[in-house]
Amino acid sequence: MIDEIVLATGNKGKVKEFEGLLRGVAGKIIGLGDLESPPEIVEDGDTFMENALKKARALAKYSGKPALADDSGLAVDALGGKPGVYSARYAGEGATDEKNIDKLLRELGDTENRRARFVCFLALVTPDGKETVVSGKCEGIILPERRGGGGFGYDPVFYIPRYGKTMAEIPAGLKNEISHRARAVEALSKALKNCKL
Ligand code: IMP
Repeated sequence: MIDEIVLATGNKGKVKEFEGLLRGVAGKIIGLGDLESPPEIVEDGDTFMENALKKARALAKYSGKPALADDSGLAVDALGGKPGVYSARYAGEGATDEKNIDKLLRELGDTENRRARFVCFLALVTPDGKETVVSGKCEGIILPERRGGGGFGYDPVFYIPRYGKTMAEIPAGLKNEISHRARAVEALSKALKNCKL
């Protein structure tokens, strides 16, 4: 069990989500909002892992505490893994979810192979340089049109055959059990069990 982890996000919702997911792994989770003038970290890596490690390393150095960072996105087979690390800004810097989905559906057109996955990498870095990196994924199919009003990002077009629903149609509780983030956190909990940081 780690006393306190700093999470590389200014998003209070994400801090809350991780508090729930990391119960039993960390005593307390704090976010960038709890630090005085936290460093600005540019996500310019070519991979999810690079981005997560870059953020966690910088934050561990700055805060002197174990730091956790995530990077996630959508990888579509027929697009060679795109939008990948560009998922948030696929249709341009500051693009809305709406615009990003429009671009994805345009690029896919009537392509038959619509296999895709959400991927999440988590990096935990301690101030003395110990690094743990884990990942989680969630497999699905990109539908040609949107379905459902829940979730965010690409959820309305991400169909999960096992449930016969899109990620925007399933209850939030179920999403939190099967998502790429939940699976990455499970892997982190396993990696940290019995491990003294
Ligand atoms: P982040 O690394 O968690 O900020 O995610 C980057 C981008 O990936 C988001 O802006 C979304 O476009 C996409 N993404 C990540 N996770 C999800 C998800 O659970 N559902 C839908 N889109 C997601």
